[in-house]
Amino acid sequence: MKVAITYHEDFGRDGFSVLKERIRPSFEALMESGVVDGIDVQVFKPSPAPIELVRRAHTSSHMESMETDPYRDVAILSAGSVMMASELVATGQAESAFAYTGTAGHHASRGSAWGFCYFNDVAITILRLKELGLKRILIVDVDPHFGDGTRDFFGNDPDVFHINFHSGTGEKHDPAKNNYDIGLGFGASDEKFLGALRSSLELAKDFDFQIAFVIFGHDSHQDDYGGFNLTFDAYPRMAQMIKQTVGDKGLVYVLSGGSCVHVAKQVIPDVVRVLAGRWPS
Ligand SMILES: [Zn+2]
Repeated sequence: MKVAITYHEDFGRDGFSVLKERIRPSFEALMESGVVDGIDVQVFKPSPAPIELVRRAHTSSHMESMETDPYRDVAILSAGSVMMASELVATGQAESAFAYTGTAGHHASRGSAWGFCYFNDVAITILRLKELGLKRILIVDVDPHFGDGTRDFFGNDPDVFHINFHSGTGEKHDPAKNNYDIGLGFGASDEKFLGALRSSLELAKDFDFQIAFVIFGHDSHQDDYGGFNLTFDAYPRMAQMIKQTVGDKGLVYVLSGGSCVHVAKQVIPDVVRVLAGRWPS
């Protein structure tokens, strides 16, 4: 299979208020796009992430503070979606995957969380991937907000290569630890973003990773709430560039920020088309 989609209807029903409205319409648009054929592109229904892995990733005080949070269950289900998508890729059942979520993850640190995030879906999943024997991981965070939670988990781990785009200013690279922060400023255009993406992916070429994650926040679109000014044109180009760099290693897209329904309805099917090798359709 070329692309596995992991989706649960609870994401649109119980997801974080800002994020959830886009979920069902974008999934329906994806199903109507014709790209999901049940052979090359298939949909899977995730289960909640195993609680022992969530507990291993986060501190006991954070787990305690989440106990009565109304978004707790959908956040654990979101981590389960990322985990299922990644397992399908890591075991060779799918070349790539797109994981829907109901909450985001990249602002969730080990002991705290903010910004529509509760548990760090990718960090929890990496614990599972390590159980499967994977070690070297590339994370490309294209959400325009700084992925501080992901950095908290992996900032000192050179086996996780973290390219972190954000709408602040300046670039800060720490090659010894494989941390690359790329501030594009407020209102970055398609050309500015894609040029910086190309250069940063060059940096990752010599890093012998086994699987790659894209923290996919479409709040980077000019109509959405994040700090970039991207047009619809940027998303399939971004996906092609990343797909080319990843090659035959596994690639997992993880839905992150974004609230605009019309943006999600276009960019998610476009990305899946690229992953399926059906772009332009
Ligand atoms: Zn964001």
